Amino acid sequence: MSQRILLYKAYDYVEARLVVNELELAGVAAEVHRYSDPETGWIKADVYASRPSQLEAAQRVLAAYRTRRESKAERPDVACGHCGEQNPANFELCWSCRADL
Ligand SMILES: [Zn+2]
Repeated sequence: MSQRILLYKAYDYVEARLVVNELELAGVAAEVHRYSDPETGWIKADVYASRPSQLEAAQRVLAAYRTRRESKAERPDVACGHCGEQNPANFELCWSCRADL
């Protein structure tokens, strides 16, 4: 076994790939390991640092990733002033009637 270090427990493989992508953009070598959750049987994925020397850089990238994800999740939906449908906070036009939000 090499000295892999667990960086991030992802929700699923797609999120794990996203995190690895962010890490690689910052020059941090990382890898995904898939496993099936013994309780649910779902495929989970963890992200590991390939090089222990890059741990600090990796943690900076992950901190920024978590902050970004949380700020997105905390923004409430916006109700359309025209038709009243709920729209995600990052939408500029109503998905239903195309009015400006
Ligand atoms: Zn609308």
